[in-house]
Amino acid sequence: MLTMSEYRAFVREYSSAPFVFPGGGEAYLLLDDGEPLCAACAYNERKQIIWSIARGSARDGWCPVAICNSYNEDPGDRACAHCGADIGDQGEYSVIVGNIGTVFTGPRAEALAEYAEWCEQSRTGAGRAAGEPVTLTDPAGEPAAEHIPE
Ligand SMILES: [Zn+2]
Repeated sequence: MLTMSEYRAFVREYSSAPFVFPGGGEAYLLLDDGEPLCAACAYNERKQIIWSIARGSARDGWCPVAICNSYNEDPGDRACAHCGADIGDQGEYSVIVGNIGTVFTGPRAEALAEYAEWCEQSRTGAGRAAGEPVTLTDPAGEPAAEHIPE
């Protein structure tokens, strides 16, 4: 199982930009029930994960046991156990900002990083995206994540 500091280092490094170079795979966590968890969920579900690590071998399905790279894995085994995203998916995702339009189209991992940056701009009120909604769409054009400003 990962230590708390290993988990925190993983989140710091990969939660907004899970691309691993060289190879361009996507970093993700393997949980104690054998399921993969994408880097975005590794951050979003941090409360449950930190709780699980703090309790030791809780065996609750939230305890990370290894850091993996999708580049090395069988594509069939890569659906995130929490959000269902295809980890390492090379399909095209887009980031759409309210008043600007489509600002990025490309692989999921890079799109997630772009999405996080535009969300940050929207939240902090700096730049053209200040206070604007930000949407991440999957290869089918369906919203995969949405930031709605208050
Ligand atoms: Zn996920």
